[in-house]
Amino acid sequence: MAGIKGKVVVITGASSGIGEATARLLARQGAHVVLGARRTDKLEELTKAITAEGGSARYRQLDVTRREDMEAFVEFALGAFGRVDVIINNAGVMPLSKLDALKVDEWNRMIDVNIRGVLHGIAAGLPLMKKQGSGQFINLSSIGGHAVSPTAAVYCATKFAVMAISEGLRQEVGGDIRVTVISPGVTTSELADTISDPLARDTMKEFRRIAIPADAIARAIAYSIEQPDDVDVSEIIVRPTASP
Ligand code: NDP
Repeated sequence: MAGIKGKVVVITGASSGIGEATARLLARQGAHVVLGARRTDKLEELTKAITAEGGSARYRQLDVTRREDMEAFVEFALGAFGRVDVIINNAGVMPLSKLDALKVDEWNRMIDVNIRGVLHGIAAGLPLMKKQGSGQFINLSSIGGHAVSPTAAVYCATKFAVMAISEGLRQEVGGDIRVTVISPGVTTSELADTISDPLARDTMKEFRRIAIPADAIARAIAYSIEQPDDVDVSEIIVRPTASP
């Protein structure tokens, strides 16, 4: 099925930022969107807003670090709409700090959400897409998946990992299943809110001045979905014009 209309699109981390903007845009273009995140109050609100506009949306609580949650989430989408065309592995966290601050719990959280979460999405969707004979994974990396900067070593490592996992997946399943990486530059969202390190928080404040709206990333995601089935958009980098 080419285009966006009628596709079943599963989105992790849909309660704010890029995931939320993507849900709104794809629903306006006729997709059935299935929204997952931990904050169900936000998901409920978003589902109501999409439905009020005439769109099709469902939501379910999801913690991507738990494999069984991700399996149940994809099953939920399948039960609601009978197929799953696209899985957007978007959930992510970014508590930046220098390595010598030894915020080991935060390192582990980034690894759990940003890497394990993506792998759980792939594990939940791959058998189903193979059975369907079609599907698309869209994984959120970052410009931090291309270059490392101070305070971002672990975050960048997780985004380099997303690049490697996505490319490996593309090589293995290309032909039936499309694999897309979206690499945003600084974008308006709640991502920096979890930074506990004062130095990293101040640095991010500077960057936030040039941030582009989350809708800019949603449009890149929509572009990758709407291509004909034999066209795989492997990666899109979208960053502010004023990016250094
Ligand atoms: P937000 O913080 O606004 O959104 C992150 C989303 O992830 C939220 O919906 C949050 O929902 C969800 N999330 C976090 N932990 C979990 C979890 N364990 N299980 C399920 N969902 C979870 O940030 P963005 O929209 O910016 O981030 C989206 C993606 O884009 C991330 O992968 C990020 O790394 C990437 N990115 C963002 C950039 C930016 O400048 N904004 C730049 C480059 C990449 P909840 O708390 O309700 O669970």
